[in-house]
Amino acid sequence: MVFNSLLKRHSIREGFLKPLLHLFFPYRCGSCGLELFLNESILCVFCETGLEHTFNQAELPPYLVSEPVTLHSLFYYSKGQAAQSVLHALKYKHERDACFEWGLMMAKNLKGHGIEMPEYLIPVPLHPQKEYLRGYNQSEFLARGIQAAYPSVQLRLDLIKRVKNSLSQTRKNRHNRLHDVRNVFELNPHTWSTVSHIGLVDDVITTGATLKGIIELIKSKHPDIRITIFVLAVTK
Ligand SMILES: [Zn+2]
Repeated sequence: MVFNSLLKRHSIREGFLKPLLHLFFPYRCGSCGLELFLNESILCVFCETGLEHTFNQAELPPYLVSEPVTLHSLFYYSKGQAAQSVLHALKYKHERDACFEWGLMMAKNLKGHGIEMPEYLIPVPLHPQKEYLRGYNQSEFLARGIQAAYPSVQLRLDLIKRVKNSLSQTRKNRHNRLHDVRNVFELNPHTWSTVSHIGLVDDVITTGATLKGIIELIKSKHPDIRITIFVLAVTK
């Protein structure tokens, strides 16, 4: 019921109480931390203009280009830019609600482009220990935001499990890294029989190694499943 309370809170924030709430509990920019004006939602106008929107034209990064998947990203990622601060805040500053708001923004963008949605959304799982320490999985709350705008799409947290914490990606070549990533995740052996089209949700694609590992794991067992990727940002 986390989902319902988030949606309710979002509705209240955006409803007639917004000016009053804003007066007592001003929201802060998800990138620079400055207090937001009433007409701003997640970012201040300066950080908003610092984001490079993809307009749904982002291409798969080299690591993923051979995979039979479709990508939808809201903006491009680059170090030292507003995008990096946004993503850092979602992971490390307890911005669970902001993840949900960004998910709603992703959905708005998808609707604007008339995207055909999958039956199921699957957030890229964190290792349970990491999720416990962080308090939430940022990708899950992005997915919850998307799902709030597409009620017929189901959120599935039971299909993929993370069985190992990520290994350090430094000092590993591509082959070893990919081999490691494949062993990080496991598919639930009982729940995939009725699945035909899934949406993998993640916050950012940098190298694409994690998603490649998951995609190849799924395709090795269920080659006919269609996969669409939804991320907030992708490296250009
Ligand atoms: Zn800002």
